[in-house]
Amino acid sequence: MPGAIVGRARCGARACFGADKASDLSAIDKTADPCTNFYQYACGNWMKNNPIPSDQTRWGRFNELGERNNYLLYTELKAAAEAPKTPLQKKYGDYFAACMNVNLADKLGAKPIEPMLKTIDAWNDRKTIAAFVGEMERSYAYGFFFGFGSAQDQKDSTQQIGAVDQGGLGLPDRDYYLNDDDRSKKIREQYVDHVTKMFVLLGDTPETAAAEASSVMTVETALAQGSMARVDRRTPANVYHVMTVGELQELTPDFNWKVYFAAKQESGLKTVNVVSPGFFKAMQQQIATADITALKSYLRWHTVTRFAETLSEPFVQENFNFYSATLNGQKEQTPRWKRCTRMTDRALGEAVGQDWVAQNFPPAAKDNMEQLVHALEAALKQDIQGLDWMSDATKAEAEKKLVAFRDKIGYPNKWRDYSSVVVKRDDAIGNLTQVSAFNDRRDLAKIGKPVDEKEWGMTPPTVNAYYNPAQNDINFPAGILQPPFYDFKIDPAVNFGGIGVVIGHEMTHGFDDEGAQYDPQGNVRQWWTAEDKKKFTERTDCEVKEYGDFEVAPGQKLNGKLTLGENTADNGGLHIAYQALMSTLAKEGDSTTATIDGYTPAQRFFIGFGQVWCENRTEQAARLRAKTDPHSSGEWRANGSVQNFDEFGKAFGCRVGQPMMPANACRVW
Ligand SMILES: [Zn+2]
Repeated sequence: MPGAIVGRARCGARACFGADKASDLSAIDKTADPCTNFYQYACGNWMKNNPIPSDQTRWGRFNELGERNNYLLYTELKAAAEAPKTPLQKKYGDYFAACMNVNLADKLGAKPIEPMLKTIDAWNDRKTIAAFVGEMERSYAYGFFFGFGSAQDQKDSTQQIGAVDQGGLGLPDRDYYLNDDDRSKKIREQYVDHVTKMFVLLGDTPETAAAEASSVMTVETALAQGSMARVDRRTPANVYHVMTVGELQELTPDFNWKVYFAAKQESGLKTVNVVSPGFFKAMQQQIATADITALKSYLRWHTVTRFAETLSEPFVQENFNFYSATLNGQKEQTPRWKRCTRMTDRALGEAVGQDWVAQNFPPAAKDNMEQLVHALEAALKQDIQGLDWMSDATKAEAEKKLVAFRDKIGYPNKWRDYSSVVVKRDDAIGNLTQVSAFNDRRDLAKIGKPVDEKEWGMTPPTVNAYYNPAQNDINFPAGILQPPFYDFKIDPAVNFGGIGVVIGHEMTHGFDDEGAQYDPQGNVRQWWTAEDKKKFTERTDCEVKEYGDFEVAPGQKLNGKLTLGENTADNGGLHIAYQALMSTLAKEGDSTTATIDGYTPAQRFFIGFGQVWCENRTEQAARLRAKTDPHSSGEWRANGSVQNFDEFGKAFGCRVGQPMMPANACRVW
């Protein structure tokens, strides 16, 4: 139904606004002043009435929808496990059934990982470390220290090249090893305690286990010291060091890359991008000098932690105790069916996704979404043309990039072929290994080949969206194209405030501090005039400072640099979705002032937007995410964006100088 994406399919005012979750009147805290704290106004009652479920660490609109999608997926997996109708259903049904078989897992204990542990036990010669690592990856599809895979070449985005990158840490970020504050020290103690307990579960004495855990900490700390910081990795030039295999060899004399690449069946590799050279120097140091028993402890630890979730209950529980409870503040273990549903989706997403999409994503939803995307593209074009700080030359280049956007909506046109993956109903660990080996083969097979632009990086039921600068594409899985983000039958103001802002957000990523360094073809190239780039940086610096002052837990502020790209995308997305709403209303002859429940279209737009971000999170999760998540917390995604947008202040009658209408607002796009 062309033209119906917004406006035309209007339902009765009451049923639209108020009944739908995205514009939930019951969520609003009328005692709060929207000009002082808009997030509290839009979400105050929601936050009060929606405490964090005990099996979650954060609870918000994304989680609500994620849980709903996960439940729908679960009913499908369960049916497929009980009575499959197609070979594909048999495959993912068996995967799920194997994961659900808690009795078998408990009976087996650590037995499924004994072959790996025996191989580690038998390894005693540090000169053969490359052969050992390569062999473990080949046999069991997991590795140590670093990652090796394919990546698009920054300088020629049509080509896939090999890349080796830092890895091999058990804590979420290098800072956890290096920071000197009391909280970090405490977490390190708890981590060592956790590693010790896992070794005890493998049958080691408490004394031996403690010594092993201490060795793990020493090795990982050295690797962390060599690792590149998250913030530095946001600059494309920092993560691009193409070397010959010979040059890489010089960096790590004691790790024989020829032997390793041969084990990976990549003997023909001539050059490779060494993403983080400092890390490989640190790895070399460890391989050359660490005590051999320390290295073995490190290898054992990364084996047990890799498979812990799929082993018997004591491993699952101890893994939960540290990673979910201590680090994230989760109170109770997530029910097994939820975990197995997620794991099956992660493993065979494009198999389960085919049936999921057929059930939950009608073709009309895809057509409507395409029109919505085009409305947003038109708004971004208008936005670029109207920028007062950018020269015509740079504007022309920016428009070229916008025109070159590839829109991917719902699900892939061509589904991944899983026929080579062998799934057994009674071998959860074997299934995990099969899938990892399949993904590894698929990934390495890309090296030296042209890029497949049709490939997706998320599974269809995922409640998320993404922009990939190297491909210059925006991707919206069917999972997010559901209420409350998207419902083409409801009030357009709410729809534009929800999915409209999400679309605008992904588009703006093409022009954030990172995306702006890529050209329309996905190559890293300077397409800005020097003068415009300087002005752009002044503007992004404003956001770095602004968001760096926002607090998410007592004494814990956001990292303005880490979150810059996402904040820029949030701000830009809000601007262009608002413009798109206003031009759509005008085009369709709809009023821009008619109220529903006392709110104008502009107010409903902002409330719909704010309510997408309603959430509660544990203090632990807030702190963890401040260090590792490039996204700001829900509160600041809402308030940070509206306080930088004067249309918000106008819509709610705020005065300049009030918190949500500051005189010194930041504006990039
Ligand atoms: Zn984003």
